[in-house]
Amino acid sequence: MSSEAQRRGLLIILSSPSGAGKSTLSRRLLEWDSTISFSVSATTRPPREGEVDGKDYHFMTVEQFEDEVNSGEMLEHATVFGNSYGSPKAPVQAAIEDGREVLFDVDWQGAQQINGSDLKDHVLSVFILPPSIAELRARLEGRGQDDSRVIDKRMQKSLVEISHWKENDYVLVNDDLDDADQRLKTIVTAARQGRLQQPQLEAHVARLGQEFEAMQ
Ligand code: ADP
Ligand code: 5GP
Repeated sequence: MSSEAQRRGLLIILSSPSGAGKSTLSRRLLEWDSTISFSVSATTRPPREGEVDGKDYHFMTVEQFEDEVNSGEMLEHATVFGNSYGSPKAPVQAAIEDGREVLFDVDWQGAQQINGSDLKDHVLSVFILPPSIAELRARLEGRGQDDSRVIDKRMQKSLVEISHWKENDYVLVNDDLDDADQRLKTIVTAARQGRLQQPQLEAHVARLGQEFEAMQ
């Protein structure tokens, strides 16, 4: 087995107020390295036009969602905008034990729970800030996805999300997209070299010791 295959995967949590560029940066990260998988959340909110069950979300009834929570199948779960959202645990465990990263799109409540879970040593959290509030609104409007009432609601929630910025390992101001994208990839590359991500180093260092002994 190569040393690469023996590394542990990271749980990469990207957080941001809605419109700051989290989906755009996530998409670029997943295209950059196809071994990184996206954690498909479960939700009780109805699908939006174009959303695919099992790809964008696992769409569930409230009863199905509660069953999953009660049987301990969620790594974290929270209520956001009046709907339940949660991250299924099994695919995450399988990926990180196999040395593959998992990317999460969760709100601050989800990030806090993952940071408090038994997988916390393998979490890489990155917060994305907009350059200004005017630009945040302009991006939400420019995206053309929501009417002004929904945009107002998202803007209200932005301040709450931003108030949690200090709970993250890294913070990116997403001004120039290419620049932010590059910085995010640099962060992931560096985090992969973390000691806890490389359990195979124990054996490697033991071998170095034996080689040294043999030379005496
Ligand atoms: P989020 O997932 O955080 O809600 P999106 O990734 O959907 O945000 O981005 C919101 C809008 O802003 C999209 O139309 C996207 O193309 C645009 N956008 C993202 N990053 C930048 C940037 N650095 N400069 C200009 N526009 C951006
Ligand atoms: P949307 O309904 O617009 O796709 O997502 C609304 C909010 O729910 C976003 O802030 C998103 O990050 C958050 N969210 C999506 N999936 C999860 C999840 O599994 N857990 C938590 N805690 N939040 C989630």
